[in-house]
Amino acid sequence: QEILKYQADNESSAISYAKGMPMAMAKGKGATIEDVDGNIYIDMFSGAGVMALGHSHPDVLKASHEAIEDITHTLDIPSPIRQRMVKSMKKILPKELTRVFFGGPTGSDAVEQAIKLAKFNTGRYGVIAFEGSYHGMTGMALALTCDAHHRQGLGPLSPGVQFLPYPYEYRNPFGCPDEDLQLQAAENLERVLSDSHSGYLKPAAVILESVQGEGGTIIPAPIFLQRVREICTKHDIVMICDEIQAGLGRTGKMFAFEHAGIVPDIVTMSKALGGIGFPISAIAYREELNTWPTGLTIGTFRGNMIAFAAGSAALEWMQDNGVIEHAAGLGEKCMVKLKELEAQSAIVGESRGLGMMLAIEMVKDKESREPAGDYAKLVRKHAHLRGVMIEVGGHHGNVARLLPPLIITEDLAMKGIEIIAGVIKDIED
Ligand code: PMP
Repeated sequence: QEILKYQADNESSAISYAKGMPMAMAKGKGATIEDVDGNIYIDMFSGAGVMALGHSHPDVLKASHEAIEDITHTLDIPSPIRQRMVKSMKKILPKELTRVFFGGPTGSDAVEQAIKLAKFNTGRYGVIAFEGSYHGMTGMALALTCDAHHRQGLGPLSPGVQFLPYPYEYRNPFGCPDEDLQLQAAENLERVLSDSHSGYLKPAAVILESVQGEGGTIIPAPIFLQRVREICTKHDIVMICDEIQAGLGRTGKMFAFEHAGIVPDIVTMSKALGGIGFPISAIAYREELNTWPTGLTIGTFRGNMIAFAAGSAALEWMQDNGVIEHAAGLGEKCMVKLKELEAQSAIVGESRGLGMMLAIEMVKDKESREPAGDYAKLVRKHAHLRGVMIEVGGHHGNVARLLPPLIITEDLAMKGIEIIAGVIKDIED
């Protein structure tokens, strides 16, 4: 009750996030968080996948402090801090993506810029996105976010946006082999583009999450992304990979599209890009798309000096310290545990994951696979009471999602999973 009152007194007066985790956060260190009462939590949420290097990373903090002494806002005028960020980003990007452009402070802004660039280059306005997608909460980004719940009551947001099914193996409506589902999902795109009777307009862009995040951590097979890549090239459509959540090491590769060996035309980035949670977003794109004139896209807060300083320090630290390899290796170990949980529990339909993007899909029973959103929320609530923070997502709100900092130790990750497994067992009993 005390904590709830604290939240009520201190949060913004308008409703925002559902209060799934009643707490007031005081401090963070590495993969742990301390609340105002001194309780310590294992952070398997990372503020929605932001804190890749954990809380209060010393090198990133140092870079941020130095930047704040030097300069804190330049508008769009070059500075050494910004230059260092561009350099760090070019180091991690595929060589085909030669241009880096900073958006406003949130991931949604990067999506807005990516679509604008695609429209400007093609002269078309339609966009194909995928069911289960989450691209943000601003105009175009919201129009591309599939969940009708977010768009209800808002009227038409962007005519020309159409959705196709994303390959979701656990909820395969056709009962065909997994590979066929992956191929069919991609061939849907070919079909609507090559059949004028499909009712689909030739779009400017196809946008997808290389691994769907909020939609329930849905991991496509490489063949899906490879075919979408081929189809976009064939039809001269800009392929945008939204890596705001899955990018920057989260899946055990710098970018999740690398698992498929492809390179999109535009990639969106945010979340972990600001090092330790400083707001920033960016797109990177191929040279031939760099046709928009200076001044077509402007904005007061396109790029933030402290975020640049923190972000470049974080990207460099990540590369120098094998963070991505750690995330990949630990992710596999976590999956062994989570698969054991799947085998043992009657209410875990499927555990899945790639790197440090892990999920447990809760069901009423394994046979019917009926989604159990209430169980997922109970897992979040009781894991929190026992000291572990996680997120809930998925088409039916029934997926417990684990997004720990990439630097989490094996001990802490295993402890977190054990606590979650204990909660699930208690729910089952
Ligand atoms: N794209 C993806 C894949 C995301 O996961 C999110 C945020 N969850 C966004 C876009 C939007 O980012 P933001 O909330 O910073 O606007």
